[in-house]
Amino acid sequence: MTLVVGLTGGIGSGKTTVANLFANYGIDIIDADLIAREVVAPGSAGLKAIVERFGNDILLTDGQLNRSKLREAIFNEPALKAWLDNLLHPMIRQQMKQDISQASSPYCLLVVPLMVENQLQAMTDRLLVIDVREEIQIARTTVRDKVNDEQVRKILAAQASREQRLAAADDVIDNNGDSHQLRGEVARLHQQYLLLSEQADR
Ligand code: ATP
Repeated sequence: MTLVVGLTGGIGSGKTTVANLFANYGIDIIDADLIAREVVAPGSAGLKAIVERFGNDILLTDGQLNRSKLREAIFNEPALKAWLDNLLHPMIRQQMKQDISQASSPYCLLVVPLMVENQLQAMTDRLLVIDVREEIQIARTTVRDKVNDEQVRKILAAQASREQRLAAADDVIDNNGDSHQLRGEVARLHQQYLLLSEQADR
C-alpha cells in the first residue's frame, strides 16, 4: 500500500503551489476539493439526494449544482448543514480511499484543506502542514482572490488555528519565504518521503 502523506494548511497558505511542486516529481496528488466536486457532479448519487431534499431550484440551468444557492440554504441552518455533511463526507472519504488504492507513485499526497478540522489525518501515514504567518496569508489571499482583509479574516477565524494544525503535524513547510525557499523545502521532503516509502516496502 502506498505511503499516504496528508497535506494541509489554512486559506492561501500554499497548498496548491506545494502540491504542484510534488506533482513535478511525479507524485500522485489526491485533491479533496476536486473529489468534493465529483461527488455532486451531474448524474451522481450525491446530487440526486440534494435535489430530492432541496428541489430542482438547487440546480443551475445546465444541470450543475448551484453551490452558492446551497451555501445560502444551509447558512444558519445547522440541521441542514449536518444533513449535507452526513451525506457527502462518507462519499468523499470513500472516493479518497479508492484514489489512494490506485496511486502508483512511491508515495501519494492527500490534499485536504480542512484536514484537522474534520480529523481526516487518520487516513494518512504522515501529516505535512504548511505554516505561514497570518499577515502573509492574508496578503497573498487578498491579491489572489481580489477580496479585502476582512473577508479573509472571517475565513481564518472559522478554520483551525496555526497552533492546532502544528500540534497535529509530523512535518512542517515554512512558507513565509520566497518560491525558491519553498522549492528547497519540497525537494528535502520529497527525498525524506522516498526513503520512508522504501522502508515501508521492506
Ligand atoms: P486555498 O486554500 O485558499 O485554495 P492554497 O493553500 O492552495 O489556498 P495557493 O493558492 O497555493 O494556496 O497560494 C496562495 C497564493 O499565494 C497564490 O497566489 C500563490 O501563487 C501565492 N504563493 C504561495 N506561496 C508563495 C511564496 N512562497 N511566495 C510568494 N507567493 C506565494
